[in-house]
Amino acid sequence: MISPFSVPRRRWLAGARAACALLLAVTMSTQPAMAQSVLRDAETEAYLHEIASPLIAAAGLQPGNVDIILIGDKEINAFVAGGQAVYINSGLIEAADNTNEVQGVIAHELGHITGGHIIRQGEGAKAATGITILSLLLGVAAMAAGAGDAGMGVMMAGQQAALGKFLAFNRTQEASADSAGVSFLDKAGISGRGMLSFFQKLRVEEYRFASTYAETDPYMQTHPMSGDREATLQADIQKSAAYGKKTDPALDVKFQRIKAKLIGYMDDPTTALRKYPETDQGLPAHYARAYAWHRGAYPDKAVEEVDKLVAAAPTDPYFLELKGQILLESGKPKEALAPLRLAVAGSRNAPLIASLLGHALVATEDPENLKEARDVLKVAVARDRDNPFAWYTLGTAYARLGDEPRAQLATAERYALIGEERMAMASAEAAMQGIKQGTPDYLRAEDIALSARSAQNDRKKR
Ligand SMILES: [Zn+2]
Repeated sequence: MISPFSVPRRRWLAGARAACALLLAVTMSTQPAMAQSVLRDAETEAYLHEIASPLIAAAGLQPGNVDIILIGDKEINAFVAGGQAVYINSGLIEAADNTNEVQGVIAHELGHITGGHIIRQGEGAKAATGITILSLLLGVAAMAAGAGDAGMGVMMAGQQAALGKFLAFNRTQEASADSAGVSFLDKAGISGRGMLSFFQKLRVEEYRFASTYAETDPYMQTHPMSGDREATLQADIQKSAAYGKKTDPALDVKFQRIKAKLIGYMDDPTTALRKYPETDQGLPAHYARAYAWHRGAYPDKAVEEVDKLVAAAPTDPYFLELKGQILLESGKPKEALAPLRLAVAGSRNAPLIASLLGHALVATEDPENLKEARDVLKVAVARDRDNPFAWYTLGTAYARLGDEPRAQLATAERYALIGEERMAMASAEAAMQGIKQGTPDYLRAEDIALSARSAQNDRKKR
């Protein structure tokens, strides 16, 4: 399942969290600014991490330190905006035909990172260098948790991410990112064919829309494909020993699934159903339709599609996760538990999936489920601390269990994450009143209170 969340700096790839797939759909119709938001999905994150890791290593960086961040935006774009992060729009994955093309784009963007290229602002764009993933994500999560004001912060950040389309480098930097990208592909033993074919495909689009250049996709605007650039790229790519190398077919199976789920999630349901008509009985098509029916609020049809997926691959954690999510979001949290428990086990406790299970357990309103919810959520936040919605749900579980101090501590974590220092400090201090001194939870509350206080003081000094 996919959820519009953002993510925290590191663990973002390893981690995951899910909730409310419908949230984005709803907010998009009422809040156009929300069209830009970070999408979090355990399966997509695992896939992007897998295909990017060899390139990141070839670039001399640590795969654990570079985030590949998926933005929910149908425009074809990928960009860097400072820091060790590559942003990829869902529209780029929709426009790609295979894993190798996505790898080509990632290689090029990594070239901008290792080149230390300074971002030049295009027309009409204000400073956009400081996009923090955290701010992106927090707002949406806060909204999911019912905190309207905090949600606004996210929307603003989302608009900033929209500026990605205006971030541009000069020609020299583009050429250097190309050549660095080609060398990373070569070093990783990955063919550059996809890089070339993807850029050529965009160029065809560019010609097609030549009269309305401003409306061509942003990637083409920030990465103009001149004849020279293409010729150089082609020659360099063909020189590589890896040129003829084929992608592992298993990666392209994953690619087709991810593309289908993004189309099912991002496109309006009618469009998704046109791209994946009922006559198509392949797994990606069932996947896309399950999302489309769910988005379109036809839970029975969505379950019908997802049941076909589960029948075909009964232990696939992502199919089970989607089934659980559909049931949870159509008001059947009890029925969601069985598939979600299997999904958590099958994904080896992927934190995004675990926090969805925690959410479902709390949503059953059955006191019998609260301890399991607490335990599942504790594991989830231990592996992915930067998920405000998981902290919110954990706080709810603690509060219902009557453990008010730990409910306050979870609330303090959430406020600290979303930059609400005053609230973080108050909750942390309340937690310290009820937690035994010197215990890990006490020390953690103390840490939050101290850093919230110093952040507040720093702000006053400025
Ligand atoms: Zn570039």
